[in-house]
Order: sequence, then structure tokens, then C-alpha cells
Amino acid sequence: MSRAARYLRPAALAALALLAPAAACAFESTQQQGGVTLRYQDARDALPEAMRERIIGTFFKAYLPQRADFHPKAPSQTAIVIDPAYDGIAFVGEKAKAATITLNPAWLDKHPGDTDLVTHEAMHIVQGYPEYANERVPGWLVEGIADYARDRYGVDNAAAGWALPLTVQDGQDFDTGYRVTGAFLKWSEAAWPGLVKTLDGALRSGRYTPALWQQHTGQPLPALWAAYAKARQDR
Ligand SMILES: [Zn+2]
Repeated sequence: MSRAARYLRPAALAALALLAPAAACAFESTQQQGGVTLRYQDARDALPEAMRERIIGTFFKAYLPQRADFHPKAPSQTAIVIDPAYDGIAFVGEKAKAATITLNPAWLDKHPGDTDLVTHEAMHIVQGYPEYANERVPGWLVEGIADYARDRYGVDNAAAGWALPLTVQDGQDFDTGYRVTGAFLKWSEAAWPGLVKTLDGALRSGRYTPALWQQHTGQPLPALWAAYAKARQDR
């Protein structure tokens, strides 16, 4: 890129890309809402415009209230990168000083209703825990909180047929993670408001221990799960 081009606004860059055969398909835009800047980059223009707009809209609708409710100091510089070379579904990491959600366009092509996966990933940006998958920051709880947040802040989970489970299956436990833990968190939060925020804050500051559940609810974590599983059986 020439020196002059570097200082052009993204809209101008997109226009410039039309003139440059090597980058003929690149799409990039930058938007701001509620003190948050989102840079959207789709180097191969892999996603159609309607999908792009749903993704950007979902991001702001989810991230702004998640951030306000859980961690107002969460990053204000964010990005969504559409990467056809990435063969997972979605992940969060830091790129060029922006908290970045990378998405696999092939997944969205096959599951066009699943745009609230952005809501799950946006919560990972809010979480911003210093570690992942150890005793201080258990992976099952990180993913459970992200799916709890997908349920709470999701824009159109029904379009993906996505919902937290209303029953407990054999072999599931509090640490099954994702939707199973998310449903357990939702039930627990309804009975003990503020629990999820307490857990989230402790995970971020390195103060998380399983004893926190008992401090907040009066019951050890396994007993709380047993009460939850029983309540679901009795439905
Ligand atoms: Zn996740």
C-alpha cells in the first residue's frame, strides 16, 4: 500500500480497492457506536452484504450492553475479521491492538441463522480473563458464561434454533460447559441475582475459587447442581 493510501478513510480504501486488481474483492469498514469502534475486514469479500450487516448489527447490540453490565473497561477498539483460511467456527484474540473476532465464512454460509455466535464471542471480549482453562479460570465456566450471555443478549437465537436446554441429560454436570453450564448459570442467577457478575469479576481478577459459589448461594457447587438437576426433573 502506498504512503498516501495508508491515511485514507476505510470507505476511500474500499473504493481504491476496486481499482487495484490484487485487492479487487476486499471489503473493509469502520463503525462507531456507544464509545466502541469496530473495524470489519473481509479481505476476499466472502460474506454477502446482508450477512455482513447482520453480523455488525448483532455485534453492537450484544457487546455494548454486555460491556456496560459486566466490564465497562473492556476494549473500545474491536474488530471482526472474516477469514476463509480459518477452519474453526469463531475465536477471539488481539490483532493490531484491537480485540478481534475471527469468523469462518464457510460456517456462516452453511448456518446463516447462527449470527448470534457473535454474541458469544463478544462476551469473550468482555470477559478478557488473563488465563484460560486452569483452576483459576476454568474453561467450562468461561464458555458457560459466554453461552449464558448469548441467551441473555442474543438478537435472534431462534433463527439458529439455538436455546439453553430446559432438561438435564445423564452424564451432564456443572462443568459440562457451554449451553449446559449456561442453563445452570441462568437458573442460579434467577435465584441468586448477581451471581454471574460476581463469578465474572473474580475470574478477571484471579480471585475465582469454587468456594465463591457457596459464599454467594449458601450451597457448595455440587449441591447447587444437584438442586438444579432435581428442579429440572420435577418440571
Ligand atoms: Zn467460546
